[in-house]
This record gives sequence, structure tokens and C-alpha cells, in this order.
Amino acid sequence: MIFRQLFERNSSTYTYLLASRAGGEALIIDPVLEKTAELVALIDELGLKLAIAVDTHTHADHVTGLGALREATGCITAMGEHSRADCVSTRFRDGECLNLDGIELRSIYTPGHTDESFSLLVGRSDASGEGRVFTGDALLIRGTGRTDFQNGDPYQAYDSIFNKLLRLPDETLIYPAHDYKGRTVSTIAEERAHNPRLQVRDADEYARLMNGLNLPPPLLMDVAVPANLRCGRIAEL
Ligand code: FE
Repeated sequence: MIFRQLFERNSSTYTYLLASRAGGEALIIDPVLEKTAELVALIDELGLKLAIAVDTHTHADHVTGLGALREATGCITAMGEHSRADCVSTRFRDGECLNLDGIELRSIYTPGHTDESFSLLVGRSDASGEGRVFTGDALLIRGTGRTDFQNGDPYQAYDSIFNKLLRLPDETLIYPAHDYKGRTVSTIAEERAHNPRLQVRDADEYARLMNGLNLPPPLLMDVAVPANLRCGRIAEL
């Protein structure tokens, strides 16, 4: 399998490129608008054809590259069924599989950071034998996505993390949408044991922890959210 993890420095965002083979169809998860040219060049260099660009959720800290990639490559744009971005060409339901030229991506509804967040699971069909889950901001490395805006809810987040993501096989690799310390990958077992936010007794304790964070709003929120509801096409605002 072809797999690339790309980093956008200003928002500490990870974008993922997947394809089953050289010359085949590719999938992009959580592209950043400013990186569009770079992404298109990489896809070209690898001899791939971009079939689908997906956002795990409506990002508040960067403008999405979905619309720009669709214009540049003719790809399909996709988000989960609860997204309010009416610009996407398709929406996936909980448990639905996106099939792409030998790669099967299963969507898992993981609300809590926002009420429309999805995680995406790539199964064990590739040669490495390991599943990969792209968690967006639902579960980060040694952290979790904040729950204090965009209809976030710490109780939903607890349910998504403990009753969905942490039930995946222990060795499943976790690839988040962000990391602010340069960490690139973790596993379900590692986060269950060592993520400080997950060392809680129950949902009430998790909600108290999340409600006490008092984080400042993301710098780009007022620009990014309205732009992302239009797939990142700022010029149309
Ligand atoms: Fe987010």
C-alpha cells in the first residue's frame, strides 16, 4: 500500500494520502488548502489518480483543501452524513464502507469534538497486516479533541472513545488529524494505557475534565468554519 503522512506547520495538521498501488486511485484525508499544489504534485509524481478527498469533520483551525482538490483533479469530496457542508459530493453513514481500488475504508461515527465527526478505519488487507484508524480530532496522541464548540459534547466524546475507538484491536495504528509535539502515530493499546485524558473512571469524570480545560478559541475559527462549510472556497464568502 502507498501511504503518506503530510504535515502542515501552521495548524499542526496531518493530511494522509493512501493508494493500493502505483498507477491506481488515491484517497486523501483532511487536506489543508495551502498545501493543494504540493499535494497535487505528489499525486502526480506517484502516478496516482485522486479519486476521493475526505474531511473527518468541519475543522476550526485551518481551511480545508476539499474544494480546491476537486477543482484541480475532479475528485469526489466526502464527509459524514451529519456534516453541514452542503458542498460535498457524497456523505457516508456510520459503518458504511468507501471502496477504492483495493482499499476498504470503514466510517465510524465518533461525535464529541463536533457533532459530525467521523473516524475512518482501513482494515488489515494491506501487506503490513495492521489496521489503521484515522481519528480526526476524536482521539489524539496522549490527548483528545476539545469539546467546547461546534456542538461538541464531552459525554458523546467519552462514548465515541471508550465504546467505539478503544474497542478496535489493540495493535490498530492511530493516525490523528493533529499533533502539536511532532508525534506521528500511536496504537489503541498505547493510548488506553498512557493517554492522560483516558485515565478516568466514567463519563462524568471525563466531562468534568473536559469542561475544566478553558481553552482559548482557535485563531482561525471565524474564518475556517464558514469557509469549510463551503469546502474551503473562501472567495465565495
Ligand atoms: Fe477539529
